[in-house]
Amino acid sequence: MSNSIAFFDSHCHFDFPEFDADRMEVWQAAQTLGVNALVMPGVYPQQWNRLVDLSLAVPGFYWAFGVHPCWIHQVPVDADSLCRYETQIDTHLAALPEQERHRCVAVGECGLDKTIDLPLSQQLDVFSWHIALANRLGKPLIVHSLKTHNELISLCKKHKPRYGGVVHAFSGSYETAMQLIDLGFCLGAGGVITYERAQKTRATFARVPVESIVLETDAPDMPPSGRQGMRNTSQSLPLIAQALADLRGVSVAEVAAKTVANTRRLFHCG
Ligand SMILES: [Zn+2]
Repeated sequence: MSNSIAFFDSHCHFDFPEFDADRMEVWQAAQTLGVNALVMPGVYPQQWNRLVDLSLAVPGFYWAFGVHPCWIHQVPVDADSLCRYETQIDTHLAALPEQERHRCVAVGECGLDKTIDLPLSQQLDVFSWHIALANRLGKPLIVHSLKTHNELISLCKKHKPRYGGVVHAFSGSYETAMQLIDLGFCLGAGGVITYERAQKTRATFARVPVESIVLETDAPDMPPSGRQGMRNTSQSLPLIAQALADLRGVSVAEVAAKTVANTRRLFHCG
């Protein structure tokens, strides 16, 4: 694979402790493969300081503020607490030098998940708060949706994310994908498309408009086929690009160029 090809990892939890021992070595290795930018999503308020510090320390790193549905049970999410988080985010943004503010590219990771033991009504409240916040800040959303695409679509029809967003690690049918695209979402293509058995999702990514696709690893989770059980890193991104190129019958260079342009357009970076 040529080194002149560039990739953008639109979803990578690179601030997680799994990378504490060798983060910059991993980043160096990913850069050697052409990965030169990544977005780290927010997962809970106590993590945000570290996320901002790490992002600002490395060119090509971007971040988002959010409360991931899987972390909701660990932090208070009553109306007063959400209000406090919003003030915290505003304070973070106001404290940044003007030229760095664009590196906070989105609101999220937020969304809905039917596989966790938390009432959907509570998840919907917290997700609605993220939509309102994104609309106020003028930023797109990074959305996690697991077995909740219908709920996601009906909520976003009523409460529209005005600056679009991405449904990360999308898995689902072409029809669902097109409904999300009509609502202004991009779809994150991740490790799932490298698995032969993911036929429905692979067929979806073979057909949806290329302008709506961004690449992601979701590292350290979601290792691609052949790397099951291993820590995932941004070094997997070229494998995911190759899988997408094969599905669409185009070159990796074309997939890389288009998905980088889509990611930069979505997140207003560069
Ligand atoms: Zn994630």
